[in-house]
Amino acid sequence: MAGERVETDEGRYDYAQVERKWQEAWVSADMYRTPVAGNRPKYYMLTMYPYPSGDFHVGHWYAMTPADTYARYKRMRGHDVLFPIGFDAFGLPAENAAIKRGIHPRVWTMGNIDRMRAQLRTMGTMFDWAREVVTCQPEYYRWNQWFFLQFLKRGLAYKKHAPVDWCPSCQTTLAREQVVGEDRRCERCDTPVIRKDLDQWFFRITQYADELLSFDGLDWPERVKAMQTNWIGRSEGTQFRFEVAEESFDVFTTRIDTLYGCSFAVLAPEHPLVERIVTAEQREAVAAYTSQATRESDTERMSTTRERTGVFTGAYAKHPMTGQPIPVWIADYVLVTYGTGAIMAVPGHDERDFDFATRYGLPIPRVIEGGELPYTGDGKVVNSGPYTGLDSEAAWNAIADELERRGIGRGTVQYRLRDWLISRQRYWGTPIPVIYCDKCGIVPVPEADLPVILPPDAEFRPTGESPLLHDQAFLNTTCPQCGGPARRETDTMDTFVDSSWYMCRYVSPHDEAAPFDRLAADQWLPVDTYTGGIEHAILHLMYMRFFTKAMRDLGLVSFSEPALRLRNQGIILGENSEKMSKSRGNVVNPDDLVARYGADVVRMFLMFIGPWDQGGPWNSRGIEGIVRFQQRLWRSCLDAAAASGGAHPADAGLRRALHQAIARVSGDMDRFAFNTAISALMTLLNEVGSYRDAGGNSGELLREVMSALTRMIAPMAPHQAEEMWRRLGGSGSVHLQAWPEPDADQLRQERVTVVVQVNGKVRDRVEVPVDAPEDEVRAAALASAKVQAALGGRPATKVIAVPNRLVNLVVG
Ligand SMILES: [Zn+2]
Ligand SMILES: [Zn+2]
Repeated sequence: MAGERVETDEGRYDYAQVERKWQEAWVSADMYRTPVAGNRPKYYMLTMYPYPSGDFHVGHWYAMTPADTYARYKRMRGHDVLFPIGFDAFGLPAENAAIKRGIHPRVWTMGNIDRMRAQLRTMGTMFDWAREVVTCQPEYYRWNQWFFLQFLKRGLAYKKHAPVDWCPSCQTTLAREQVVGEDRRCERCDTPVIRKDLDQWFFRITQYADELLSFDGLDWPERVKAMQTNWIGRSEGTQFRFEVAEESFDVFTTRIDTLYGCSFAVLAPEHPLVERIVTAEQREAVAAYTSQATRESDTERMSTTRERTGVFTGAYAKHPMTGQPIPVWIADYVLVTYGTGAIMAVPGHDERDFDFATRYGLPIPRVIEGGELPYTGDGKVVNSGPYTGLDSEAAWNAIADELERRGIGRGTVQYRLRDWLISRQRYWGTPIPVIYCDKCGIVPVPEADLPVILPPDAEFRPTGESPLLHDQAFLNTTCPQCGGPARRETDTMDTFVDSSWYMCRYVSPHDEAAPFDRLAADQWLPVDTYTGGIEHAILHLMYMRFFTKAMRDLGLVSFSEPALRLRNQGIILGENSEKMSKSRGNVVNPDDLVARYGADVVRMFLMFIGPWDQGGPWNSRGIEGIVRFQQRLWRSCLDAAAASGGAHPADAGLRRALHQAIARVSGDMDRFAFNTAISALMTLLNEVGSYRDAGGNSGELLREVMSALTRMIAPMAPHQAEEMWRRLGGSGSVHLQAWPEPDADQLRQERVTVVVQVNGKVRDRVEVPVDAPEDEVRAAALASAKVQAALGGRPATKVIAVPNRLVNLVVG
């Protein structure tokens, strides 16, 4: 690790040689091995593991280098740091790419991982490669299967025949979280999804719906918390029954205070009751409308711009309060898959119902005082029998109580969240460990038989059916219970299962007895800071929270949340401020940048570009500024190493600037404000320049300043800092040094006490910032009550100031 010195050409910093040298030295010294169990406090820093797409783009660098910087910073702040990396190696893109290129997904994936490992090394990252996790390896995915079996035992995994979302392009089912936008597209390929009725496996995430709404103790961005909260969509309301002759149907409403305003009811066209209540005269019209509606997608039916249409069934329901008959309609904007598949329509206080009532000439009574109809706010209740005169909240409670008392309604909570559909009809994923036997039914694969290996030689092209269904050797097996012939489940798991618990695997990545070692988990988990893209706010981050709670209830961990602090990076755009894409021709390739500028410059520039959570456009001129900073830093280092002068009057100012910079940079690093941390270091370097210009040449002071600056830049520019550290005579690696601490006395000297005189007579003393301008000193003096008393209302005609010492106010 001693590392020979790099000869430079006229003091120019040779990044290529230095970076190569230290990357090799760090590997051979095993610099980034995670400590086993130290006396120091632990810090688990985690960046979302990448998908092995084959190439890191500049967005990956933007995501990962600040995470690396922060991990290095925490280590220098005295923590034992766990900073692992792995690859999210299963999933559709690998399969699709492999199909396109005619190679096996495993070959494609593992080749990409090799390439990406090398790229991650060129970044100068401190990942502990001994803990690498690759999820397509049986040693990893066997534990997905193990979790599935534990979930199955406890009713957290179940199979259900249900309408599910199907992507016709990806040829697989999707979780609801993977269907995006008003027009319900596949999040991966943008194809509109269709509905299919299939037998599929689900994880019971809804069991944790309420707990997932609590973010107590979590330092997470408000935006992510709001997105999850909306997705879970908890609404408190009332479910009650409408009677229609001998039949009845249930509706759910969050506005039971408007019940007296219900002038009709609407069923989804597919609602099973429609068939039984429709009158003979209406039967034909209802059948025609229903057949039309069922041919349309939910998306079309729910579209907000579309006209509300429907057909009267001829039947009347009894209003539960007034006993009045109210007409029952069918309309395609009510979906049988959502809520109870029926609604009470309150056209005076609901926009959709208002449109519908207007179109079909149905009555629009007002029951809440307020603005123009439809009025959707709260207010005083009117035209509502005994509840008239109450405010909305009181009426809400009173009407709900009355329905409950009569046994026709009850307060309920409805969620938008649905259980997590995990079955996929694709090849490149974890086989679901279940066997079907004609005699015994669904039989879990015994734990001792795990892993169920994904057959390497299966035909993996998608057909709409699971590829494993056509692999006879995989499909046919014997029943673990009766020994008779049986068939394996051929669907594979959603790859979001893999990433739901991978943070735990890193604590003991090669454990063969358990998904992770309990002692190591107690030592390291939960994750202290987790970083990654906002696009995972609902999918990955919610699944990971669900898994953590389920693992807690299985007795596997003692905590309830996977990560205490979350930070999302912004997006790096192309130079033209548009999203980077090959078709726009604005892609910045990090490999080219590293070849041209070196990794340290690219790292620093990405962190300097702006606030990390905001991202911004790439700027090829801006990076040149960082190159100049790098060279100046290097020259100042060589200069300090050679400086031999003694004390100088400018010393105090430079020393104060140093400690201010330490305080500033430390605070910025803690806040993830990497851009301002780098600016503060640039300012300090400018101070060094001014000091030299003023004739300062104290070897001791210059080395003290540059040594601290080197340690502070080390997390951002690890290679250059390592080289500078050696040049300055430091021993050991700079990355094992302690972060500099600001000297409190030096910071205190930022303020000085100034004597205030009035006509030459001392009247008071005031504290002002060092080198404060005369205006500020004068204002501070005038703010003193004693000085005001001495002035006696007379204005100061003249001010005589001695900087940092005295101010004399002269009055006539
Ligand atoms: Zn798709
Ligand atoms: Zn059997």
